[in-house]
Amino acid sequence: MTINTSNHAASNVDPSEIQKFSDLAHRWWDPSSEFKPLHEINPLRLEWINNLAPLAGKKVIDIGCGGGILAESMAKKNAQVTGIDLSEKALKVADLHSLESGVQVRYEKIAAEEIAEREAGQYDVVTCMEMLEHVPDPSSIIRACASLVKPGGKVFFSTINRNPKAYLFAIIGAEYLLQMLPKGTHDYEKFITPAELTQDIRNAGLIVDAMKGMSYNPISKIYSLNQDTSVNYLVACTRPL
Ligand code: SAH
Repeated sequence: MTINTSNHAASNVDPSEIQKFSDLAHRWWDPSSEFKPLHEINPLRLEWINNLAPLAGKKVIDIGCGGGILAESMAKKNAQVTGIDLSEKALKVADLHSLESGVQVRYEKIAAEEIAEREAGQYDVVTCMEMLEHVPDPSSIIRACASLVKPGGKVFFSTINRNPKAYLFAIIGAEYLLQMLPKGTHDYEKFITPAELTQDIRNAGLIVDAMKGMSYNPISKIYSLNQDTSVNYLVACTRPL
């Protein structure tokens, strides 16, 4: 892992958010831990990404990669993957896991905006999952993703919608009733509607290709991708040539 010591462009970060993830980081790869939902949704999002942007041989960057669940799984599809985050602990866990699994990923502690200046236009695919709802200015991250991707390349985002149902499911349901996530994981105010996200995406010069909802059935305990974007959702975009 490379640790970037410059503070340049690192102002778009909420230190309490980084602390929250750092405190739990040692459990990142425990599939029954607080990160269980990320383990369970990973095959779904990975297949969706790989269908729209076949990963083999591609240069990929995962923004806000955490312990590397998605990053490693994309590397297993034979992509050349870089993962960045601002939680040093999460990146250490990611590095250690990659050593154990033998699946190579380049991890770096650096802000999205900063690597976007350094490595503009170098990536075939950019992913930024479950991260925008934890940053002060998501539009700045979206612009960074747009500059990292090559013309013709793909960018994928996922986040949580903001409406009464999302409050009920993502906070009351997931944190209080089902206790799938620690209380305080998510802040309702930071949820992002599809209209807001697609506006930011267009302002960043990307074109929205597709949107999918992701729902959890508490009875069957199964996640699925569908057309219901009212709570969790994913967006695929292209940078025009
Ligand atoms: N994308 C991963 C992890 C999601 S958890 C996945 O879906 O599996 C959210 C991650 O965003 C955490 O690892 C947290 O440290 C990171 N994060 C929060 N704010 C950030 C910021 N400003 N810059 C980079 N990473 C950030």
